[in-house]
Amino acid sequence: MECKNHPGVNAVGRCEGCAESFCSNCLVEIGGKQYCGACKTMAASPAAAVIPDEATIPCKEANDALIMAIIGIFCFGIILEPLALIKASKAKKMIAENPAMTGSGKATAATIIGVIGLILWLLGTISRIVALSQGTH
Ligand SMILES: [Zn+2]
Ligand SMILES: [Zn+2]
Repeated sequence: MECKNHPGVNAVGRCEGCAESFCSNCLVEIGGKQYCGACKTMAASPAAAVIPDEATIPCKEANDALIMAIIGIFCFGIILEPLALIKASKAKKMIAENPAMTGSGKATAATIIGVIGLILWLLGTISRIVALSQGTH
C-alpha cells in the first residue's frame, strides 16, 4: 500500500474524509482523526464544522403578524392590518438575514391576509359611507 500522492512511499494510514491511503507527510490530524491535504481544508473550514441541525429559531414577528392579520379581519382592521403588514415585512427581512430562522410561510400568509383585511375594511367603510349618503336623500 503506497501513498496516493507519493508513489513509492509507504502509506501509514487512511484519510477519514476520502478513505484513501497516505504517507505521514500527507496526513494531518484534526480532532483525533487523520485527513489528507484536500480533506483537511474541508474538515477545518467553518462551513463544514457548523452544520445547523435542528438549530432553527421560529420567527416571533411572523407569528405576531399572522395573529394580527387574522384578528384585523374581524375588528380594528384599519389599525391591525397595516401593523400586521409592517411586522410581516420585518419578519421576512429577519428570516432572509438569518437562515436558521423559520416562519417565512407565516409572514407570507400574514401579508396576504393583511392586504385582504385592509381591502375588506375599506370596502366596508365605503359601503357604509355610500349607505349614509344615500340615507340623507
Ligand atoms: Zn482525503
Ligand atoms: Zn504522501
